[in-house]
Amino acid sequence: MKTHILGYPRIGSKRELKKACEQYWSGKISTDELKKVGADIKNYNWNLQKEAGIDLVTTNDFSYYDQVLDMTLTVNAIPEKYKNLDFKSELDLYFAMARGHQKNNIDVPAMEMTKWFDTNYHYIVPEFKKEQKFNLFSTKVIDEFQEAKKQGIITKPVLIGSVSYLLLGKEKEEGFHRIDLITNLLPVYFEILNQLEKAGAEWIQFDEPFLALDLTDKEKTVIAETYTAIQEKFPKLKIIVATYFEGLQDNLKLAINLPVNTLHIDLVRYPNQLQEVLENAPKNLSISLGIVDGRNVWKNDYQQSLSTIQKAVDMLGKDRVLISTSCSSLHVPCDLENENNEDILTSEIKNWLAFAKQKVNEVVTLKQLFLDDNTENNKKVVAENREAIESKKTSSLINNPEVKYRVTTISDDDAKRKSPFSSRKIIQNKALNLPLYPTTTIGSFPQTKEVRSWRSKFKKEEISQKEYEDLLKKETEKAIRWQEEIDIDVLVHGEFERNDMVEYFGEKLNGFVFTKFGWVQSYGSRCVKPPIIFGDISRPNPMTVKWTSYAQSLTPKLVKGMLTGPVTILQWSFVRNDQERSVTCNQIALAIRDEVKDLENVGIKIIQIDEPAIREGLPLRKSDWQRYLKWAINAFKISSSGINDETQIHTHMCYSEFNDIIQNIADMDADVITIECSRSQMELLDAFADFNYPNEIGPGVYDIHSPRVPNKDEMVLLLNKAKKVIPKELLWVNPDCGLKTRGWDETKKALTEMVTAAKTLREKT
Ligand code: GLN
Ligand code: ZN
Repeated sequence: MKTHILGYPRIGSKRELKKACEQYWSGKISTDELKKVGADIKNYNWNLQKEAGIDLVTTNDFSYYDQVLDMTLTVNAIPEKYKNLDFKSELDLYFAMARGHQKNNIDVPAMEMTKWFDTNYHYIVPEFKKEQKFNLFSTKVIDEFQEAKKQGIITKPVLIGSVSYLLLGKEKEEGFHRIDLITNLLPVYFEILNQLEKAGAEWIQFDEPFLALDLTDKEKTVIAETYTAIQEKFPKLKIIVATYFEGLQDNLKLAINLPVNTLHIDLVRYPNQLQEVLENAPKNLSISLGIVDGRNVWKNDYQQSLSTIQKAVDMLGKDRVLISTSCSSLHVPCDLENENNEDILTSEIKNWLAFAKQKVNEVVTLKQLFLDDNTENNKKVVAENREAIESKKTSSLINNPEVKYRVTTISDDDAKRKSPFSSRKIIQNKALNLPLYPTTTIGSFPQTKEVRSWRSKFKKEEISQKEYEDLLKKETEKAIRWQEEIDIDVLVHGEFERNDMVEYFGEKLNGFVFTKFGWVQSYGSRCVKPPIIFGDISRPNPMTVKWTSYAQSLTPKLVKGMLTGPVTILQWSFVRNDQERSVTCNQIALAIRDEVKDLENVGIKIIQIDEPAIREGLPLRKSDWQRYLKWAINAFKISSSGINDETQIHTHMCYSEFNDIIQNIADMDADVITIECSRSQMELLDAFADFNYPNEIGPGVYDIHSPRVPNKDEMVLLLNKAKKVIPKELLWVNPDCGLKTRGWDETKKALTEMVTAAKTLREKT
């Protein structure tokens, strides 16, 4: 019985890699200094696994930016525009592809980035041409193997499998499918395997997450052929094919019949597949049990895991069983031991958690417990684990009977506005008295260094709560004044009091905790610190009423209340594993519903509930979509429906394809939806137009991701385009998204142009 993990976080437990990369990019440290930081992290990670007693230590899970981009460099799928440029090093070429490069007469944009399956990690999308050639370019995977070998660790290198690598990319030309490139690509994989084998590698892990997703017949055939070819050429290598994030389902027969040493399955996401896999596994196939959750932060339930291992061993024998994390632990924070602040994370809750380092120990402990279950020490370990798991189940911190009860009483009517949109529109038109093409923004205004420094001083208790709030009040008042000046129709307070759109609400709700160092890589050097939802969620006090009503008190114009929606709060947090996501989501929805009512009660007439994460919550298998959408959309409606017809509900979503879920978006029945649209030149609006979307809509008229100031004519052009497909009575005018990452100067200029554009349109109508 062997132990391994599919991968370890590479950012460093105090974000050492993030800091080093950013220093390198700004020219403050040299290549060697950056590489030293990288080497230290690698060493630390390898030795941590080795010392814990992991049998197969993983290499090549380290990356300076992204593991998919590493692969692109490895197989030389470098797009033309990055070639023949005068980069100092391979590393600079690599960073140029990742982030663009505008220095020393070189000016290239970054490659496209997108979400890694259903995680919050983003990878760099490979680009393929019809005649795409590949050859071994970067030898990183081999170098890392050698690096570890020098320290006496013979590792298991991990590579993205050739089929998944192709499927992760996209075609940059017409007339072919990227899967056809396998014939060109496979020889490079052979070359890599050849070199690794020569260097002494025995085990290789190929990540093939697509093997657990919907596949075409062609793709299935290619997978089978690929691993057959690898087996023929390298009969001595022990190949692990790793699947994760979903169950094998209809691909189960294909997967277990691949001629490989080991198949890894994700038993956290899809425990039900175990039985069928065990029953059908051919005699020479080993199964790697992904039982320690690589996606979430909870302690493993040893008793449950041991019974899973027992089941596998009963059917396969212990030599054919491996124990592992469900997926790479890239998606959880590094080390719980860093959390020593009782005020932030109490020891009671800490005792329920395990981060990446603790998960390594869990994997090893499970093997020890299984092989040797009768020692005194083992009995103690199991008992302690049992106690932690039980205390979590019964703790009064987690259970709030009132909240649990309230969720069970939610009725269909709770998720329905009093009147249909057509009636609401008449009532709202009267109540709000807005001009045609009303102008507004998405909520946040520039979070300047100053604003952030106030917050950090307040957190460090260098200024009092009153001083902090007075500063924010002044900033809010300034924002209100100049919105009045430039004559925006629906004002916002600016969100200066918020660090982050989820964290702000998490901090005010019961049932959430935060960490000090719980960073998870989002992309490149960017890390996020997701809140942890551990218990039933309730709202002890109003969360936004004070700021919104303060802003409203300053002006006779309409001020829009600003909330984050239940699906987005859920999606961007670590969630409970003892309760359906849908139930947790409903608990959040009720808290937001109460907030919406409170805002209405103090006279706020327009309330926006942001849901940028609805689309990314979609399950990986299409057959699961409608089930998810049903509860997710319903949760939004619970949060937005407890009010009178006069009150106008807005929602906002960032860039996303709406075509396949437009019916569900319409079902949300928000009075107004604002979407990101400008970069697609209003193309994203077509989904709404084709559908005859009935409610009001604000297609973003300028891109907020760049400091560039658009002029009014560009925006008039876009609005005219929008007008052609959406009735003008339904159109709003707003930027693509919030403005918190922008500076004041460009923001003021851009919004002034935007208001002028709306006025120009009104004159022509
Ligand atoms: N209201 C938020 C803001 O303006 C919305 C952010 C988002 O869509 N991601 O910042
Ligand atoms: Zn947005």
